[in-house]
Amino acid sequence: MENSKVEKLIIIGSGPAGLTAAIYAARGALDPLVIAGREAGGQLILTTDVDDFPGFPEGIQGPDLMVNMRKQAERFNTRFINEDVLSVDFSQKPLIIKTETKELKAQTVILATGASAMWLNLESEQRLRGKGVSACAVCDGFFFKGKNVTVVGGGDTAMREVNYLSKICNKVTVIHRREELRAQSALQELVKSKSNVGFVFNSEIDEILGQDKVTGVKIKNTQTREISTLQVDGVFIAIGHKPNTDFLKGQIDLDEKGYIKVSDETKTSVEGVFSAGDVSDHKYRQAVTAAGVGCKAVFDVEEYLENLK
Ligand code: NAP
Repeated sequence: MENSKVEKLIIIGSGPAGLTAAIYAARGALDPLVIAGREAGGQLILTTDVDDFPGFPEGIQGPDLMVNMRKQAERFNTRFINEDVLSVDFSQKPLIIKTETKELKAQTVILATGASAMWLNLESEQRLRGKGVSACAVCDGFFFKGKNVTVVGGGDTAMREVNYLSKICNKVTVIHRREELRAQSALQELVKSKSNVGFVFNSEIDEILGQDKVTGVKIKNTQTREISTLQVDGVFIAIGHKPNTDFLKGQIDLDEKGYIKVSDETKTSVEGVFSAGDVSDHKYRQAVTAAGVGCKAVFDVEEYLENLK
């Protein structure tokens, strides 16, 4: 379907960065169009308690926070399309964005597509996904009520998953490839205080066992190379994230890990195209920092459009 209108601003992504950009842009009369994606709302949709986003003294559920942000953007007449972007053409002006059903044109774009969970890339992991292997405790933890599970990873995401699962499951065993956890100390202390959480350090999963459903994992000690087996019903992979930039390859400068390269905080290698949130941030990656950069990106869009006049 063709659409000949040239939008002032298209925001791609609807996590904290994209929605904060939408709120500022709509209030600033940029009449933004948000391409929210099929899985709108970003990573916070897959979380439960968010205790570190300012303004909520009792904490807030991740999905509620995202619904609130979207409602706030809608209050100022932001328009949304719940489709994924398939490709872009940034080699000309106006900038072209193709979704599943539309070809859109824009003077400026804010890229806020975030990052997605990474996998171990074992054959057994791919085969047993949805049959005991998951990357989202909030989505799938319910299926493991009273059962034994393992969580792979030593970062904040892993510890959040462990905390959540420890309330549902009989036993949660963390498998981490090093001796020390990477997660912030508050989260480490929280999970270490749980009587049903155990740790297997210096270890990696060699194979996930089971034919039609997970029955256990084969673990390799990274120092001694010794192999052992742990019987579990579920395996939660929490080893970090990959930026969602596949559709941008060849259109914009990315770093070696696929994150968008930025200068002056939000400017990409293409004039008129700006970036905000986890898609260009491998360091801070917090909802509040993503929201902050979403705001900055709108200021930079306004300045760019002013200079065009
Ligand atoms: P992360 O900090 O990069 O941690 C990934 C963990 O997985 C590390 O412990 C890493 O081991 C391990 N790992 C990576 N690849 C692996 C592999 N192939 N096999 C086995 N283990 C592997 O990622 P994250 O936990 O998703 O956190 C990302 C960012 O989001 C961080 O900045 C974090 O602070 C933030 N975050 C914050 C919260 C919060 O509550 N405030 C919640 C979630 C995330 P090594 O330690 O050996 O590298």
